[in-house]
Order: sequence, then structure tokens, then C-alpha cells
Amino acid sequence: MSESSTQPRPEPRSVLVTGGNRGIGRAIAEAFLAQGDNVAVTTRSGGAPDGALDVRCDVTDGAAIDAAFKQIEEAHGPVEVLVANAGVTADTLLLRMSDDDWEQVISTNLTGSFRLAKRAAKGMLRLRRGRIILISSVVGLLGSPGQVNYAASKSGLVGMARSIARELGSRSITANVVAPGFIETDMTAQLPEEQVKAYQGQIPLGRLGAVDEVAGAVTWLAGPGAAYVTGAVIPVDGGLGMGH
Ligand code: NDP
Repeated sequence: MSESSTQPRPEPRSVLVTGGNRGIGRAIAEAFLAQGDNVAVTTRSGGAPDGALDVRCDVTDGAAIDAAFKQIEEAHGPVEVLVANAGVTADTLLLRMSDDDWEQVISTNLTGSFRLAKRAAKGMLRLRRGRIILISSVVGLLGSPGQVNYAASKSGLVGMARSIARELGSRSITANVVAPGFIETDMTAQLPEEQVKAYQGQIPLGRLGAVDEVAGAVTWLAGPGAAYVTGAVIPVDGGLGMGH
């Protein structure tokens, strides 16, 4: 990323990162903190990085989201940058997938992002600026066996971001999607070595990605260099999803 993404900003922004206590979300929250922004992190279990406001909020609960925004607005002012990163999987093949497997993943990944974007947009409209960044996945456009629910939730974010981009663009509010590929997290660390090698063989860059590489794309989208970028899907996948 450019030097400007690591330099302190004169005016800290109110940034909300959902799911920021581990993995990709934590790296994103830490990247904003390093820029000097006021960062709030929401999760169900707590444990935000040092310097971030630690807020409990289950994104499947609309009332909890409203309460979290009130807490963040009191501490940091209206949310100017929303990163909807909280996500879950409940993988199984289509014929074995229960309604509960479907509902849980859609409610967290897709409906949760809708609730967050809607609540955040209220403050952004008053500010007449804002950045909405939805964390999707390479799987959203590529598909993946055993992930019908997850892929549907992640491709739904693309239509959501592009519709928000069209609705709110005239108020200087952008909405973009970041689509990570295979990123080194606790989840991928548990994969058997052979499986990781098989994945690497399909990735043009020949390696898994790092959480900081996803964070770099997110802070760029939130920064001055991306002021004219909206409705975009930015892959951070080593080339795995090219062509979609
Ligand atoms: P993790 O499983 O490590 O972390 C998920 C985060 O989401 C946790 O902070 C968790 O906190 C939070 N979360 C889950 N459910 C809820 C909920 N109902 N309400 C509030 N918070 C919730 O995920 P990763 O870091 O691996 O992934 C982050 C995002 O990136 C996800 O959207 C994922 O789909 C996407 N992604 C990940 C890839 C990867 O290779 N890892 C690849 C492509 C996309 P808590 O449990 O405390 O609530």
C-alpha cells in the first residue's frame, strides 16, 4: 500500500470494524488504529485490539446493532467508515444443508451487513460523506462445493454494495466490496498441508495471502486515494478469482 495509508491523519475518523477481535477484522482494526483513527470493534465475545473501543454486538440482532451505534456515536461521533467484516460458515453439501445452516449464514453475513449499512447510512447522510466496505470472498463469484449458503451470502454483498453506491453516491458516500481469497488465519492454519498445497497450485501468486494484505485494500478504499471508487469489487486473492 502507499505510504499515505500508514501516515497519521490530521483528523481521526470514526471507524467501525465488525468482527475485529481476530483474523482479518483484527488486522483491519489495527491498520486504522495505526493511522490514528478512532476505531470501534464489535463482536459477540469481546477482545478488541488495544486502543479500540470494545463493543459487544451480535449482527443478527437489529436492536443490538442500534445500541452499538449509539455507544460508538457517543464515544467517537457518527461512523464515517463502516467495515462489515463479521462472517461465519456452516459448510455442508447442498442435499445435507439444513434451513438452519442457511439461515445462520445468511442472517450473519448478508442480512447483518444490510442492517449495519442501513444504520451507518443515517449518520453518513447527515455528514454528507462516508465509506461502506463489505468483506465478501472469492467464493462469492467462483462458487465452492459445500458452501451454497456462504457463497450466496457473499455474492449478495456485491449487489448490495452496488445498489448502495447508486443510492448514496450523490452524498459522497461510497460502497465497495473486498473479496479475499485464501488468507492465512486460524481457520486456514488447521488445513492439512496437502490441501494447502493443492490450493496454492490454483493461485497465480502461488501462496496464501496475509491478513495485512486484506487490511491494506480496506484502508485504501477508506482513504483519500479512493474517493472516486464506488461499486467496485476489489479482489485480494493472489489472482485466484481472475475473470469474474
Ligand atoms: P474469523 O472466523 O477469524 O472471525 C470472524 C469474526 O466475526 C470474529 O471476530 C467473530 O467474533 C465475528 N462474528 C461472527 N459472527 C458474528 C455475529 N453474529 N455477530 C458479531 N460478530 C460475529 O474470520 P476471518 O478473519 O477468517 O474472516 C473475516 C471475514 O473475511 C469473514 O466475513 C469471512 O467470510 C471473510 N473471508 C475470510 C477468508 C479467509 O481465508 N479467512 C477468505 C475470504 C473471506 P465473535 O465470534 O466474538 O462474535
